[in-house]
Amino acid sequence: MTGSFAQLAKKAEQEKAFITVSKEPVENPPLEIYKLGNQVLRNPANRISKVDNSMRELAKNMLTSMYSAKGIGLAAPQVGIQKRILVIDLDIENPATPPHVFINPEIISSSGSINTYEEGCLSIPGVYLDVIRPTSIKVSFRDEMGRPKKMNADGLLARCIQHEIDHLNGILFVDRVTNEETLKKELKENGFFYKDVNTLNSK
Ligand SMILES: [Zn+2]
Repeated sequence: MTGSFAQLAKKAEQEKAFITVSKEPVENPPLEIYKLGNQVLRNPANRISKVDNSMRELAKNMLTSMYSAKGIGLAAPQVGIQKRILVIDLDIENPATPPHVFINPEIISSSGSINTYEEGCLSIPGVYLDVIRPTSIKVSFRDEMGRPKKMNADGLLARCIQHEIDHLNGILFVDRVTNEETLKKELKENGFFYKDVNTLNSK
């Protein structure tokens, strides 16, 4: 009994999230989120060779900035940092749900099925448009302790991971929007410029 309990306790300790951040918005978030039109969003991010305290500190600051902006996902290039790290929390109203931290994430497989879903982005506030992506994915990454992990994701989580990994490659969701007329109108109404879109769709 004692042995198995100790094993369970050890397992729980290993599974524990090591980043705890208040989900309450703060008045002066630690990081500035750059907007569409800023070149920093277009630079591809570099792989992270070592997951250390400075990386965990970055993840914390990214989370605080994300919560303060009422977002559910944020990638380092959005705060002007060219590193392959992103944070996601689909349950921002619930303090008990730990956030996800993905370091060097790679999509190792995608479902053949695709779906359409309306996306938004903290770097393009006010713009919400339909994007077509694979419905489910398998992703490999390192967590905030540097442990290698694999995860199957579908629904909103799959959607969010794909959107954030795009940021690591300098791609924004508006680049994937197929309805060009609506895109132009939405951007204009929210003070953005169509010239800042790098459209990925063949015309
Ligand atoms: Zn985004």
